[in-house]
Amino acid sequence: MASPGRGWAEVREPVAESSETRADSANLLGRLDVSSVTKGGSLGTTPIISARGLSVRYGRRLALEDVTFDVSGGAVGLLGPNGAGKSTLIRVLLGFLTPERGEVTVLGRKVSDDPLAVRRRIGFVPEVDCHIPGMSAVRYVAFCAMLCGLPREDALQRAHEMLYYVGLGEERYRALDEYSTGMKQRIKIAQALVHDPELLLLDEPTNGMDPRGRQELLDLIKDVTQNKGIHAIVSSHLLPDVEYACTSVLMLDQGRVVGYGTLDELSLHRKDHFQVKLRGDRQAVADHLTRAGAEVKPGDNNLLEVTLRNGLGSNVIFRAARECGAQVRGLEPSRDSLEDIFARAIGENKET
Ligand code: ADP
Repeated sequence: MASPGRGWAEVREPVAESSETRADSANLLGRLDVSSVTKGGSLGTTPIISARGLSVRYGRRLALEDVTFDVSGGAVGLLGPNGAGKSTLIRVLLGFLTPERGEVTVLGRKVSDDPLAVRRRIGFVPEVDCHIPGMSAVRYVAFCAMLCGLPREDALQRAHEMLYYVGLGEERYRALDEYSTGMKQRIKIAQALVHDPELLLLDEPTNGMDPRGRQELLDLIKDVTQNKGIHAIVSSHLLPDVEYACTSVLMLDQGRVVGYGTLDELSLHRKDHFQVKLRGDRQAVADHLTRAGAEVKPGDNNLLEVTLRNGLGSNVIFRAARECGAQVRGLEPSRDSLEDIFARAIGENKET
């Protein structure tokens, strides 16, 4: 099942638990019969996920309400505060939950038609630990591969490869119970990749991790999506994680979609906020602008951050500089941060 073109980590030691040579990755791919599947990156404009009017209820609580979106692929952040409905949406995508209304298509296939067929093409990294106590990492990942249909020897070969890839090659014979939180998260990624999925669903993958482990895990997610051609939906309530690892974002709040787009599309240049580079008396220019009605703050690297209010245009900045005997050496419109975008989307959702 290992895709020959993906360039996973090389196994540097012989496979310990089998005497046969099993390096023929291309054969594995054929045996699992996923060859007809279009790999990530070549889907063009076809959405990898299309949801139409999804509503999900737990008893009387509506967890998703009329959710409609198309996601076009790559690394997609599923962003929302706790309780927004992120995990519920992931369960629907996996076919674990049947929506009360609406339908969802994943990788071109309606989930309700054949949830198992859809799950074969997805790797899932759950929020909660899913390890089997007492098992070594390599046995556990191989076991997961066998559950996906790989013969035992192939499963072992693939488990070794994946453990090297996620950076646990040296630790692969240790019992999972002894692993740190960060290592357990990596194991979850190894088991999710073991059957060579086209799409990874990661539910709060950096939860509980220290800053270094978190950074390494985000880099791993980036590598999977940018260099291995696998799409990923990364659920998170942490804006910096989404900003770092994802190229687009689907925003949920109170069970509703409140925004979707690439980070570039969403963080449009603001017309009222500028970073100004000056030569001359910065303070005099700042005072002049403040008197004219602008909001001025010192920025990094000797810049001034200027917010124009009350219909002021950027020409006021040049005028202020001229009148203070200073020179404008640079004027760049600021971009909204993901935090601004998200706060605005949530604010608009509350007003409706
Ligand atoms: P998120 O993953 O964004 O934190 P969830 O999908 O877990 O959100 O939850 C969405 C809403 O559904 C929340 O109000 C939560 O309390 C409720 N919920 C989630 N799971 C269950 C459940 N098994 N039973 C009842 N309510 C649930």
